[in-house]
Amino acid sequence: MSSSSVSTSAHASAPHPLAPYGWDAVWEAEFAPYADRGLVPGRVVRVDRGQCDMVTADGPVRADTSFVTPHDPLRVICTGDWGAVETDGTPRYVRAYLPRRTAFVRSTSSNRSEGQILAANVDHAVIAVSLAVEPDLGRIERFLALAWESGAQPLVVLTKADLVPDPVGLAHLVQDVGTAAPGVPVVPVSAVGGEGLDVLSAVVAGGTSVLLGISGAGKSTLANALLGEDVMAVRATREVDGKGRHTTTTRNLLLMPGGGVLIDTPGLRGVGMWDAGTGVGQVFPEIEELAEGCRFHDCAHRAEPGCAVLAAIEDGALPERRLESYRKLLRENQRIVAKTDARLRTEILKDWKRISAEGRAALQAKRGRLR
Ligand code: ZN
Repeated sequence: MSSSSVSTSAHASAPHPLAPYGWDAVWEAEFAPYADRGLVPGRVVRVDRGQCDMVTADGPVRADTSFVTPHDPLRVICTGDWGAVETDGTPRYVRAYLPRRTAFVRSTSSNRSEGQILAANVDHAVIAVSLAVEPDLGRIERFLALAWESGAQPLVVLTKADLVPDPVGLAHLVQDVGTAAPGVPVVPVSAVGGEGLDVLSAVVAGGTSVLLGISGAGKSTLANALLGEDVMAVRATREVDGKGRHTTTTRNLLLMPGGGVLIDTPGLRGVGMWDAGTGVGQVFPEIEELAEGCRFHDCAHRAEPGCAVLAAIEDGALPERRLESYRKLLRENQRIVAKTDARLRTEILKDWKRISAEGRAALQAKRGRLR
């Protein structure tokens, strides 16, 4: 009833009931104006037809999203958002949501030029790559670009590591994948033997994660291993027998027993790339660095005299495959960007720069405070 007026956060010793879902002092501070209006925070688990399911300090809540469903598809409330929801009323309305620290978006499959928001406030993007087949480095770079662009920290997990019993062979594969993922940890994991799972769960324990990768990459097995139960199988069974509609309300945002939250939305299972311009640069830092040594500022690294990138390929310092992959991703990105209305793009970019700057500052403030 009036429990919402009791501020649990006032007692530093008692953890906030939403802390396992990622609520922290920075969110709390940002939420203050909404708390003053009598609203309570809730993390969005799932959005569906004008309504959303949220977890609040008082338990799960189903709320109306009319106020947070603007025309701009990137501003629509989504899984992972922290919403400000009313404490009562029929329906209960979500009045606003806090500025996102990170956001995963994808291009819509239709001919509409807008992106679609898939998940918000994700800290770790776990890119699953199966060792059952030769790792596709170009595809890994593509997922990395998407991850960097979202603002989340990527991590490459080589699944089914038990299929490569030779430790030297495994080390080579890790090294190979590492060349496509500069600055990104590459962790071999086996759900069968359990190798690497402790490292993975330690990484994801402190925040919100998503699992990316093509089907067959071992995402479900990985999720089950992290969650310590056969969630995917349970889900499939319930979907088949048509029972337990309430199970669908929690499946998109799962608490991990070792700490942290896993977001698993249908949209994330087939992500493409959307305006990942910044992300592409971060996937190929050595090319961007080399390019600074090119004679011409706008060098396309094709046949220009004094091109440092071509020189690096010539002397073997840069694998040609990397340059080709870089070009391919840039081309793809430019196509998508060209489709997007220029005005909308400027607006989004402005908004994103502000949000990511705020997010970074908030994160730094948080780190400074907590460590
Ligand atoms: Zn060049």
